[in-house]
Amino acid sequence: MSLIVQKFGGTSVGDISRIQNVARKVKAELDKKNQVIVVVSAMSGVTNQLVAYCNQVSSLMTKESLAEYDSVVATGEQVTCGLLALELQSIGYKARSLLGWQIPLKTDDVYSKARIDSIDGDFLRAQLKEYDVVVIAGFQGIYAETNRVATLGRGGSDTSAVAIAAAVGADLCDIYTDVDGVYTTDPRITSKARKLNKVTYEEMLEMAYSGSKVLQTRSVAMAMSHNVRVRVLSSFLEVSENSGTILVNNDEEIMERRVITGISYSKNDVQIALTQMPDHPGLSATIFGALAEKEVNVDMIVQNISADGKSVDITFTIAKDELERAKLAIESIKDIVKYKEMVVDENIAKISVIGVGMISHSGVAHTMFKTLADKGINLLLISTSEIKISVLIAKDYGELAVRVLHDAYGLDK
Ligand code: ADP
Ligand code: ASP
Ligand code: MG
Repeated sequence: MSLIVQKFGGTSVGDISRIQNVARKVKAELDKKNQVIVVVSAMSGVTNQLVAYCNQVSSLMTKESLAEYDSVVATGEQVTCGLLALELQSIGYKARSLLGWQIPLKTDDVYSKARIDSIDGDFLRAQLKEYDVVVIAGFQGIYAETNRVATLGRGGSDTSAVAIAAAVGADLCDIYTDVDGVYTTDPRITSKARKLNKVTYEEMLEMAYSGSKVLQTRSVAMAMSHNVRVRVLSSFLEVSENSGTILVNNDEEIMERRVITGISYSKNDVQIALTQMPDHPGLSATIFGALAEKEVNVDMIVQNISADGKSVDITFTIAKDELERAKLAIESIKDIVKYKEMVVDENIAKISVIGVGMISHSGVAHTMFKTLADKGINLLLISTSEIKISVLIAKDYGELAVRVLHDAYGLDK
């Protein structure tokens, strides 16, 4: 008997017939005498609609407003966990739904992208003695000090599932979605994308972080640090031995070693340039301190010093939905850092090539830059880690860049 956490994303619970399909997937595990905890997302499109409602009535700049945003956007998951529990009851199981606060799944108070502090795993294990199956609303928890609902950031149900798997010591966390695994790149961009049978946690972390939203970045980080076995599967296909993609610890588990594992694409970033600031020690600390204070995450950073060494331009990227907060933060230090202009460019895409094989192979960056140059694509920013190279380019070239790089690294083979 194994203890399994099954997570179903928005498309998988998109209507009643799909919820009935999910119940069959749950039944398949129960038939094998496994214990099952289910985590669900909201029906596809619902969270977007709820976010849009909030944006219509508020600019969501204050903590107080973000707390209310969370109480609105968390509702999508309440519907689906209740409906799935009802369907499981209809087919003969003793099932119940659980909301974040009922577990409790405790978070910090960074509303709209809260982090999980703790989960009562003993309570969940006790519930499994009382019920055949429990269905948990993903994406949500509670900030205990104020008793307020907090959500875990877009795509956060993945993180709920992995965290719950860690808290109960599950043998496996199966993430069911609308693709049958992790691909070399988003299969919506090129039909040449190939499914990966295995991918290392490290690579998946970089892929998720740089835009492959098949898993939320935090879910991968959590799986890595808590040693949770994660598999990505389609909820629309039968599960067999070779189904899906499994996250593995290191490349030793991967027989056929490739230099590049995957290519990620993100349209979610904004570039901000602060120009002609008088150079002095502490300039960067002031800028990035102000951004951190407003909970803005910074990704790529480049600093250029003028030929005479007197002034600097600093360019960085952030997530699009944090732009308004970032602008406020920057404007608040205008008198200290004395930038001439703040130039915002939303017309950009970030393309990243990822692979642990990069550590032991040279020429990976050259292939990337040459391939893009041959198509006349200009690079605005470049950043690297030991297993990733990211470039910022004009948004119009984003999908083309992914396709030519996919060919250049032979990922279709
Ligand atoms: P869910 O609602 O099930 O959480 P998401 O929409 O969040 O599903 O994630 C699944 C989607 O991720 C796929 O439909 C696919 O378009 C996209 N995706 C992006 N990059 C990849 C990749 N490398 N492999 C597989 N899917 C990817
Ligand atoms: N429903 C939430 C979202 O759309 C969480 C999730 O699906 O993982 O972001
Ligand atoms: Mg998702």
